[in-house]
Amino acid sequence: MFCKNCGKEIDDKADICIYCGVSTKSWQEKAGETVKKTNGFGIAGFVVSLVSLWLGVYFCIASVVGLVLSIVAMVKRKSCTSCNGLAVAGLVLGIISLAIWGLSWMIAGGAMISNFIS
Ligand SMILES: [Zn+2]
Repeated sequence: MFCKNCGKEIDDKADICIYCGVSTKSWQEKAGETVKKTNGFGIAGFVVSLVSLWLGVYFCIASVVGLVLSIVAMVKRKSCTSCNGLAVAGLVLGIISLAIWGLSWMIAGGAMISNFIS
């Protein structure tokens, strides 16, 4: 790996940089956290989108939540290649779910309004 302080190449297992003495532990832990969070967003986005696709009548808002989570996962996917597929799948499912149920709600709402007017 490369030292984030001075940019020189150091041993992957080194606890401190031999050139500038900076501790490597803090940025190694941060990198691990980012991957975990990104994975979480990808999985959450996929699951929420999937659920909203089946239960969209009651959980129309879940489509939006799934879509947002998937977008977050997509934005952060640079640090996590393994969850890229999940983020894309969640995004696609979220869009499909939102299109189907959003349209259903609009039609239902439109029918109710036109009934009320006439
Ligand atoms: Zn250094």
